[in-house]
Amino acid sequence: MKAPPFTLHRPATVDEAAGLLAALADEGALVLAGGQSLVPMMALRLAYPPDLIDINGIAGLDRIELSGDHLAIGALARHHDFRRSVVPGPFGALLARISHEIAHYPIRTRGTFCGSLAHADPASEWCLTAATLGAEMVLRSQAGERAVPVADWFEGAMATVREPEELLVEVRLSRPAEGSAWGFYEFNRRAGDFAIGAALAGYRLEGGAMRDVHVGIGAIEEVPRRLGEVEAALEGQPPGPEAFRTAARIAAGAVEPLEDFATPADYRRDLAVTAIERALAEAALAQPGQRGMAA
Ligand SMILES: Cc1cc2nc3c(=O)[nH]c(=O)nc-3n(C[C@H](O)[C@H](O)[C@H](O)COP(=O)(O)OP(=O)(O)OC[C@H]3O[C@@H](n4cnc5c(N)ncnc54)[C@H](O)[C@@H]3O)c2cc1C
Repeated sequence: MKAPPFTLHRPATVDEAAGLLAALADEGALVLAGGQSLVPMMALRLAYPPDLIDINGIAGLDRIELSGDHLAIGALARHHDFRRSVVPGPFGALLARISHEIAHYPIRTRGTFCGSLAHADPASEWCLTAATLGAEMVLRSQAGERAVPVADWFEGAMATVREPEELLVEVRLSRPAEGSAWGFYEFNRRAGDFAIGAALAGYRLEGGAMRDVHVGIGAIEEVPRRLGEVEAALEGQPPGPEAFRTAARIAAGAVEPLEDFATPADYRRDLAVTAIERALAEAALAQPGQRGMAA
């Protein structure tokens, strides 16, 4: 199928884009970033925006810059830009590792980090990353700028608190704690497919005990999130397979899994437990002194 007709607008600045959104968002205008979700949806007639506001000509939106306690990621930073470390050290290595799990090569060269956060697919690796590490979404409209913490960002599957006239100009991804180490695990049936279940986990060691524990799940529920119950069970414990298994099992009672024609809820519940256990095992291997992704 072909996309329905639309008018293409090519603003040269963020202010111009904000002006177009102010004028046209009520009529259904949408931002076009990498187009890797929006264009297929238009071709399938699941979306039919009368106006597309193509932000690809706006200079400076491709920036990826370490700034204090966060990594500032502009609206045109592509998945592929993270394929090699964008920051020195293990934080960059973690993002590179995760980026390789997203879709296929051609999609990674066009799709954007911010587009993933705006689109809010439950299976998005970047949404899981933002939810687990912590992030702030910076929105711009003619009314000004506001920042939304990731805890308040997602409203449901493919739904966020972004107003139609707001442009997501930047995501500020929190830097992991010094000395922390991370593991990531994702399951899908074929390489490049969307994840059916994924987990990101990290902690640092203090006197042999786990501290600053972060455990997040993606593709399991409508919205990726940290699992406080699992984190609490690990905090202060020595790491090891037994502790990981016991904590991961808590997830089985804590999650409300998505269900679809190919994947029953119970399958996803089991997958959440396995993904968490494997992400934690990888984080253990990555602890400073081991070879891996220690921050
Ligand atoms: C075959 C296939 C496999 C895929 N597999 C994966 C996968 O495994 N993991 C994964 O995470 N993704 C996957 N994707 C999706 C891909 O990563 C998209 O690139 C991403 O979801 C959206 O980014 P985009 O820049 O392409 O956004 P677009 O397609 O341009 O836009 C998506 C939506 O977000 C809005 N939007 C985009 N940017 C902004 C902005 N700056 N401000 C406001 N609104 C904005 C658009 O208006 C639109 O509603 C896959 C896509 C395909 C086609």
